[in-house]
Amino acid sequence: MEKTIVLALGGNAILQPGQKGTYTEQLENVQKTCTSIAELLDNGYQIVITHGNGPQVGNIATQQIAARDKVPPMPLDICGSQTQGFMGYMIQQSLGNILRERGVNRPVVSLVTQVCVSEDDPAFKRPTKPVGGFVSKEEAEKIMAETGEKWVEDSGRGWRKVVYSPKPLEIVEMPVIKTLIKSGAIVISSGGGGIPVIKKDGKLQGVEAVIDKDRAASLMARQLAADMLVILTDVPRVAINYGKPDQRFLDRLTISEAEKFLKEGHFGEGSMLPKVEAAISFAGTGKEAVIASLDQVKEAIEGSAGTRFQPSKTYSSVS
Ligand code: ADP
Ligand code: MG
Repeated sequence: MEKTIVLALGGNAILQPGQKGTYTEQLENVQKTCTSIAELLDNGYQIVITHGNGPQVGNIATQQIAARDKVPPMPLDICGSQTQGFMGYMIQQSLGNILRERGVNRPVVSLVTQVCVSEDDPAFKRPTKPVGGFVSKEEAEKIMAETGEKWVEDSGRGWRKVVYSPKPLEIVEMPVIKTLIKSGAIVISSGGGGIPVIKKDGKLQGVEAVIDKDRAASLMARQLAADMLVILTDVPRVAINYGKPDQRFLDRLTISEAEKFLKEGHFGEGSMLPKVEAAISFAGTGKEAVIASLDQVKEAIEGSAGTRFQPSKTYSSVS
């Protein structure tokens, strides 16, 4: 039987720090990744794709503010749904073109996906997820004073706006995702962690937040009973003492080692921390999770790149 792999593509890897974020830049990054994905399909893997949207959703939110005198601003869940549309479109078109070139006749489809969160999630008390571009400390302090927004220093790369990031509880479109996969389609879903919604009186309604795509990817991989979760980002491996003189990249981690490093605070909140939590919760189901760089997807799956989280038969306490 084909191995099912959930591939989570980093929003920061698609729009890399230092890049302006033009359409051409993002499309080139997506096209490179899709070439690697096509090779995986050649090797007989069943691939389900999800992607982050941190830089992209932040940029759309900035456009809302900048143009507010001309066009009414949209809330954050709407901005998130826009990123599912445009990023899904880029992946769907790029992968479709590459597959057709190779004579592979498989539909690629991106699905607008809602993900339920809890209104009572403590995450709504404190914004933690960085979105949008990076600015200097001085600039961030000026914006905070003007707008009341919260900005934080993000892993030595500059200052970024932070938003609420509740835990994903349920992928609303899961039954149709399964149907599409069964039909032979390559599915792109839960983009940007999914559009955050709450259930009120039996009805769904959007909330102003951005779910971390790594947490949603882990939930999706567990619900699909995938064989592997592969989280692709812009660093080659997970490190301890990241950014310090004694920084050490790790090849392999057991769940208990990962939990220990997590408690010791080695992983950036809103960046590496959710990836490690996602990897731990997936490895807890007895299958392997890998965190690697976007340009080493094949090597990561085959075992020569990235940080591997060794599976365990017992469920982890982190979810
Ligand atoms: P993505 O868009 O792929 O989710 P993130 O910016 O959220 O990307 O996460 C990747 C970033 O995590 C890296 O570029 C790095 O700056 C940061 N990071 C924080 N802690 C660590 C760590 N311990 N090891 C490696 N990278 C880390
Ligand atoms: Mg991230």
